Amino acid sequence: MEKKLNVKLLKYTPIPANIVATAARLCYSKSEINDLLEKMTDDKCEELLKKLIDLGHESPLEHAYFTFGIEGISRACSHQLVRHRIASYSQQSQRYVDSKEFNYIIPPSIKKDEDLTKEYEEMMIKIGEIYEKLKEIAPKEDARFILPNACETKIIVTMNARSLKNFFHHRICKRAQWEIQAMAREMLKECKLVAPTLFANMGAPCTSEGICPEGEMNCGLWLNMPNAMIKYKGKIMNKEEYKNVKGN
Ligand SMILES: Cc1cc2nc3c(=O)[nH]c(=O)nc-3n(C[C@H](O)[C@H](O)[C@H](O)COP(=O)(O)OP(=O)(O)OC[C@H]3O[C@@H](n4cnc5c(N)ncnc54)[C@H](O)[C@@H]3O)c2cc1C
Repeated sequence: MEKKLNVKLLKYTPIPANIVATAARLCYSKSEINDLLEKMTDDKCEELLKKLIDLGHESPLEHAYFTFGIEGISRACSHQLVRHRIASYSQQSQRYVDSKEFNYIIPPSIKKDEDLTKEYEEMMIKIGEIYEKLKEIAPKEDARFILPNACETKIIVTMNARSLKNFFHHRICKRAQWEIQAMAREMLKECKLVAPTLFANMGAPCTSEGICPEGEMNCGLWLNMPNAMIKYKGKIMNKEEYKNVKGN
């Protein structure tokens, strides 16, 4: 059966923005920790967080943790997710959990074609039948070799805010694959609901830093953003300079 993306923020460090701002403040203050925490106003917190990001002093962001429950993603997507090493993961196992009548993801580009989508779904059923036959002669851990990248998986992910910043930087960018991009956008949405100040300026580099690092492979979105720049052939350029170099 086809499955859809479902992202839920399960747990997070209480008052995450304040904890990060207090940790940052502590580095430069003689005060007692409790005093720092109690005197941390929203304005001060916002100002400190902005300063941290501007200075690239990101280690205080590591004090805030966020745990997500993610369902309805493909194994193709989870493989990309787990490349982010500064995180903790628990993923449903294909060795222990039976994949009889497994769920799967259908990419929107395929879904547009009704006939091919039907063939795709028939193939999923066929694979499921062969999986069942393989299980008669082999353990689940071997029968699963027939399963596709499309297979749905479930995963619980914990990342700190610094790692999330890096994750959003790479995966909210239009150049990221559509499925992990959609998942990252949902994760950022959840984070912004509970810690708007902390996550205010996180996302793709064009929106968060005003610079697209994608050079030749840029998606063009930055061209519509006021004052945005691009890193192109090793140089940071504004729109005019870029257009002159590109010759249009
Ligand atoms: C658009 C896109 C295309 C991609 N294409 C490919 C591809 O074709 N093939 C492929 O293999 N991967 C590909 N990747 C994955 C990419 O190379 C990274 O593995 C992934 O994005 C995780 O990023 P990260 O290492 O910054 O994250 P994390 O592993 O979470 O690391 C965070 C940061 O910690 C530091 N760090 C972590 N571990 C080390 C270490 N061992 N040594 C030094 N510093 C460390 C680095 O500063 C790193 O940026 C792609 C990613 C994107 C976004």
